[in-house]
Amino acid sequence: MIINIQTLTKQDILEFDKEIQISLPNLRLLSKVTDYTARVYGTVEKSGELYTVKGEVDITLKLVCDRCMRTFDYPLHAILDDQFSTSEELLIGDEDIKRVTKSSVDLSDTILESIAMAMPMKSLCKEDCKGMCLECGANLNEVTCKCDKADIDPRLEALKDIFCLNSKE
Ligand SMILES: [Zn+2]
Ligand SMILES: [Zn+2]
Repeated sequence: MIINIQTLTKQDILEFDKEIQISLPNLRLLSKVTDYTARVYGTVEKSGELYTVKGEVDITLKLVCDRCMRTFDYPLHAILDDQFSTSEELLIGDEDIKRVTKSSVDLSDTILESIAMAMPMKSLCKEDCKGMCLECGANLNEVTCKCDKADIDPRLEALKDIFCLNSKE
C-alpha cells in the first residue's frame, strides 16, 4: 500500500483510510484461505526529514481451531507504528527507520509485520471449545459420540492407567 507524501509540507499531517487486498501465505494458524480484504487507517506525520506512521489494521482472518480443527472467523486488530526517512543521517543513526523516496511511503511491509505481531498464541474457535474426539473424530461441540470414556469398564480403566504410566517412563 503506497501513500503519496509529496503533498506534505515541512510540518504536516496526512490522514489515510483505505481498503486493500492482502495476501498472507506464510502465516501460522491460518486456514487455506490466504487472500483477504483489510481496512487500513491512520496518519502520516512529517517532522523535518522524518515521517511517522501511526495507524490501525482491521482484518477478519480464517483460522483453524487448535482443538476441533474447524475453520472460524477471527477479527484481528493490528497497530501500525513505524518511521520512515529520506535522510541518510537519520537512516544510519537508527536502524528501525525505513528508507523512503520524497514522493511516497510504502506501508506493505509495515502492515504485514503488524498482522504477524497481532496473531494470537493459540487458535480457539471459542474459549470453551470441547475439541474433537481422538477416537472417532466427531466434533464434540456438536455431538456426544459413543466413545464416551465413562463407558469403559472400571477394570479396563485401571489397565489403561497402567499403560499410560508405562508410556510416560
Ligand atoms: Zn474449536
Ligand atoms: Zn468419539
